Amino acid sequence: MARLTLTDVRKSFGKTEVIHGVDIDIAEGEFIVIVGPSGCGKSTLLRMVAGLEQITSGEVRIDGEVVNAKEPMDRDIAMVFQNYALYPHMSIFDNMAYGLKIAKLPRAEIEERVATAAKLLQLEPYLARKPRELSGGQRQRVAMGRAIVRKPAVFLFDEPLSNLDAKLRVQMRLEIKALQRELGVTSLYVTHDQVEAMTLADRMIVMNDGVADQIGRPLEVYANPQTAFVAGFIGSPPTNFLDGALVEGTEAGARVGIRPEHLRLVNQGRLPATVAYTEALGAETLVHCRIADGTQITLRQEAAQPIPPEGQALEIDWDDSDAMLFDAEGRRI
Ligand code: ADP
Ligand code: MG
Repeated sequence: MARLTLTDVRKSFGKTEVIHGVDIDIAEGEFIVIVGPSGCGKSTLLRMVAGLEQITSGEVRIDGEVVNAKEPMDRDIAMVFQNYALYPHMSIFDNMAYGLKIAKLPRAEIEERVATAAKLLQLEPYLARKPRELSGGQRQRVAMGRAIVRKPAVFLFDEPLSNLDAKLRVQMRLEIKALQRELGVTSLYVTHDQVEAMTLADRMIVMNDGVADQIGRPLEVYANPQTAFVAGFIGSPPTNFLDGALVEGTEAGARVGIRPEHLRLVNQGRLPATVAYTEALGAETLVHCRIADGTQITLRQEAAQPIPPEGQALEIDWDDSDAMLFDAEGRRI
């Protein structure tokens, strides 16, 4: 367990800066998720913490000590990747024990640590098998096991569930969450999947093109996004954006963001719209409409509500308190 502090961390490849100064103070045992679209700099940031990528400027501290110049091996961290990178010719036991053997731990200590991790991960029956004899979920657990046996101060995860099918991903997500709670190890977890971020994180860092647009608890970020990017990226379907000119009392150039669950179809409201198509998902229905300027607006309604036919002309309404205002640069007003 450790505190992890990033201070104005930047990264340039050649002349191009791709991480523009990230600051965060991560408490002992906290689970932080870095979330953002592909290419926004998540892996680069994580790899700088791991020591796999040099830090161009700024500081990374583990328990107060600046680790910028330390080798990955000396940083007391363990990393789990998307491709688990297990050794195919080694048994599961040996895969989990490998790092400890390299570190020259006594045999008895290695056996005890692997046994404890195997029990925790329900891998005890498979220790003699080879990776190819395990399912994708089990292999993912072995990769976790390999990190756990190191007893690191910090866990780093880079999209560890991306190779699994949707159902397994949900299951493994719950397992990782439970495991992290049980072990209490400070964790930094990278994903492009906002649902993973929402469900795993104590706090999340929403990355936008090398900038940490917002850092906060998932439900706070959802309810109170500080930029239009965050409002559009967190939540599915995404926040709808209306040109300020369409909304009475809003300055030109501004944008109004409203989440799909905060819109309703009425006979008389603020904005005329036509139903383009609907998606009945069972528990809820998504109603996609078009407004006069061609913008598509999505509403989420409960299954019990009547589903309007395609082509129907209606009006859209919302409560003022649910409208989020953004300036021309996308900053929350
Ligand atoms: P993410 O993990 O969010 O998908 P990355 O951290 O991998 O994003 O990449 C961030 C940006 O840095 C991208 O524009 C990518 O092309 C660039 N980048 C990453 N690694 C290198 C590298 N070794 N050399 C040059 N550019 C890189
Ligand atoms: Mg990446």
